[in-house]
Amino acid sequence: MTFKFSKRVPVGGNDAVGAILQAAADPKVISFAGGLPAPEMFPVKAMKEATDKAFEKHGRQAMQYGSSAGLTELRQLILKRIARKEDVHAKLENVLVTTGSEQAIDLVGKAFVNPGDTVLVEQPTYLCALNVLKTYGANIVGVPMDEDGMRMDALEDALKAHPNTSLIYSVPNFQNPTGRTMPAERRKKFAELASKYDVPLLEDNPYGEIRFAGKHVPSVKSFDPDGHVFYMSTFSKILAPGFRLGWIVAEPEVIQKLTVLKQSADLHTDNLVQYAVTEFLKDNDVDAHVKDICNLYGKRKKLMTDGIKKYFPKSVKYTNPEGGMFLWVTVPGVDDTVALFKKCLKHNVAFVPGDPFFAGKADPGTFRLNYSNAKEDKIMVGMKQLGAALDEALKN
Ligand code: PMP
Repeated sequence: MTFKFSKRVPVGGNDAVGAILQAAADPKVISFAGGLPAPEMFPVKAMKEATDKAFEKHGRQAMQYGSSAGLTELRQLILKRIARKEDVHAKLENVLVTTGSEQAIDLVGKAFVNPGDTVLVEQPTYLCALNVLKTYGANIVGVPMDEDGMRMDALEDALKAHPNTSLIYSVPNFQNPTGRTMPAERRKKFAELASKYDVPLLEDNPYGEIRFAGKHVPSVKSFDPDGHVFYMSTFSKILAPGFRLGWIVAEPEVIQKLTVLKQSADLHTDNLVQYAVTEFLKDNDVDAHVKDICNLYGKRKKLMTDGIKKYFPKSVKYTNPEGGMFLWVTVPGVDDTVALFKKCLKHNVAFVPGDPFFAGKADPGTFRLNYSNAKEDKIMVGMKQLGAALDEALKN
């Protein structure tokens, strides 16, 4: 049969990034490609205890259909945590539990983006957000960044040039893919611009708690004068991505619409996971656990930048993040990063080429390196192999 897929299905439909990750999964290859947390940090024992407790206390509710908004007790714990950690002060009617924070991006896209609307994003940005926005027919426009994240002069120019902008999407902390963080002053301006041009701003903050150096910066939402900023985050990086548990905070009117759309998507997020994570949050020192994660990632990031300094050609530029899981490399003189990826695979080392992170034309010679997942002993070896591949590419 010739299948007539809807216009929402990407043309070509082949999963370029999936193919990269598959190639990188070869056991011979040291991979800095995936975006995976360190599995040795998953609190398996404590989570098993929390799950047992959830079954004992709420077995039947956990196995029954539940509310689309999410478990009240979990939403209360989320609200307490984001008030303390991110200066986001909200009430129960402002928060929706989502199936991973990825679902929050999808629901916001569905709720706010009509085909042809402009959506402004950082250039480059999180590639799965680009995929969501493409599904809704967005005209995605990349706003240039500097070392401090999205440039506010460029954002204002883009807002003027695209009066049909229906959404701004941003990752202000330890951005995926660049690792860059926006300073407080700029965040204030960011929230003001969203308000001035009356455009919702989706602040995606999966990495905010994963800070291993420097000082905490308040969320963009904390500067929000009038409800234009929607704040979203996840348990994926502080607990475990496999649970698929995230949340979004916005005005009650927005949350109501997103809740209706969530009903169509999956009725509600997994009840057992919600009960178990609620018990985990009550019984464990989550701050101490997050600190252990930060210490490990800080150590791994330093090994990676030490390796870059030691083995990479001197012309190579790289970001030096204070948190999160990624750094961003630019190799002047390399145009085809996909060809570079193939060369690196021959040297048994992998990254994600920059191209899929760009809404438009990619900056040449860019790629993303993940430092959270590879063990310490592999990082230096991998950097040496990568350095050799880069030397070879630049010689040609
Ligand atoms: N936003 C960003 C910027 C991410 O990097 C990720 C995970 N890679 C997500 C959202 C989605 O995370 P999850 O669905 O696991 O909460």
